[in-house]
Amino acid sequence: MNPQPVISFENTENAFAYKSDGQLKKANFIFSIMQFQWLVNWGVKITPYLMKLNLPINGLIRKTIFKQFCGGETLEETAIVAQQFGKYKVQLVLDYGIEGIEGEENFEAAVDEIIRVIYYASTQQHIPFVSIKITGYAPFSLLQKINENMLKESGDVMEQYFKVVEKLSQKEGGEWKKVVDRINRIVAAAAEKHIGLLIDAEESWIQNPVDALCMQLMEKYNKNRCIVYNTIQHYRFDRLTFLKWSFGVSVEREFVLGAKLVRGAYMEKERKRAIEFNYPSPIQSDKIACDKDYNLGIEFCISNLEKISLIVASHNEFSNLYAAQLLQQKSISLNHPHIHWSQLFGMSDNITFNLAKAGCSVSKYLPFGPIKDVIPYLMRRAQENTSIGGQTGKELGFIRKEIQRRKLLKY
Ligand SMILES: Cc1cc2nc3c(=O)[nH]c(=O)nc-3n(C[C@H](O)[C@H](O)[C@H](O)COP(=O)(O)OP(=O)(O)OC[C@H]3O[C@@H](n4cnc5c(N)ncnc54)[C@H](O)[C@@H]3O)c2cc1C
Repeated sequence: MNPQPVISFENTENAFAYKSDGQLKKANFIFSIMQFQWLVNWGVKITPYLMKLNLPINGLIRKTIFKQFCGGETLEETAIVAQQFGKYKVQLVLDYGIEGIEGEENFEAAVDEIIRVIYYASTQQHIPFVSIKITGYAPFSLLQKINENMLKESGDVMEQYFKVVEKLSQKEGGEWKKVVDRINRIVAAAAEKHIGLLIDAEESWIQNPVDALCMQLMEKYNKNRCIVYNTIQHYRFDRLTFLKWSFGVSVEREFVLGAKLVRGAYMEKERKRAIEFNYPSPIQSDKIACDKDYNLGIEFCISNLEKISLIVASHNEFSNLYAAQLLQQKSISLNHPHIHWSQLFGMSDNITFNLAKAGCSVSKYLPFGPIKDVIPYLMRRAQENTSIGGQTGKELGFIRKEIQRRKLLKY
């Protein structure tokens, strides 16, 4: 007899148990609209301008994609989702939708806000993680400059980082010190409140200082438990090597490596920039190579689970299942404290809720914040869902299957 549960992502009754009939029909409507690629492309282009012009489109966005992909505008609204999902043993990662802001004052305000989010998460039963993007707390141009200079130095990412930081001008050095101080204040709050801090990966041309900072933070805060997680984008061909290198450093310096594995969200931007500036694209040759490295990454982390805390952050059914199967093969419990699965709010409920039902530790990434701040995130989701081979077809299939099961409409 096999004591481990057999996981299937086909059960739509589990997947959408939290949705009322009305909510299900609304999701059907939104994903149906998103099938029209020309409409989404057009919307993605004009929305930021309309927002800048203060045209009254907030209401439309709020009722449609915002409602589908975000948890609300305030922290209190996220608590409603947390309680609702908690009933199904699905947890939340709070993702305060700030990215790409500029100016000292804004960065400082963002630190205060994220610390408030961390404190709030610690009062909630079902919110074990908070995520951040370094670009919410650091000037993009400075990150880019440090990154560029790191590429000119020899050694590994840490060695390059220290060499570059030492050589920064007084002004830039001062600015960078403030960035490091901001991030340290955030991580200290997370550590104090036992909240995991997931540091998102962004564009490759700013990622090196982010990686170096993550390694330093993990060394400081992940001694006996995992507080800080770096994100590894496997659509880059060099990241499996980077994951293994990070692990080597963590073993040597005796800390737990926090690794959130993703495929990567900026593929088109990466390729476009590589062509524009005439350098080799960091992106894998094709999807097969990306999938292969992603699954090898999972395998590597699960083989070292005592020293790596892994988050499988994906909507790919094979990868999610593969992680569960590897655990089962190795007789490791599905709720081992070093393994967690996560999907984005509004997507792949068939994976999240069926994993939870099988006893896996799983969460939804829940972006929230004022609509104007989450627009870049919403635009990425819209594009991801319409791109060829994107999620929309799959999402619609499951939603319509459940609509039929509930006998709400005929297709
Ligand atoms: C919880 C969570 C957190 C996330 N955090 C981050 C983050 O911090 N940073 C970030 O960049 N992204 C992040 N993402 C987004 C993620 O990187 C992917 O864009 C998204 O999840 C789609 O990949 P997938 O694994 O779900 O599955 P799939 O649908 O199987 O894969 C699609 C992905 O494969 C890759 N791909 C597609 N075609 C090719 C090709 N021809 N060559 C090479 N690669 C290709 C692309 O990355 C594409 O997005 C996160 C996703 C989740 C679920």
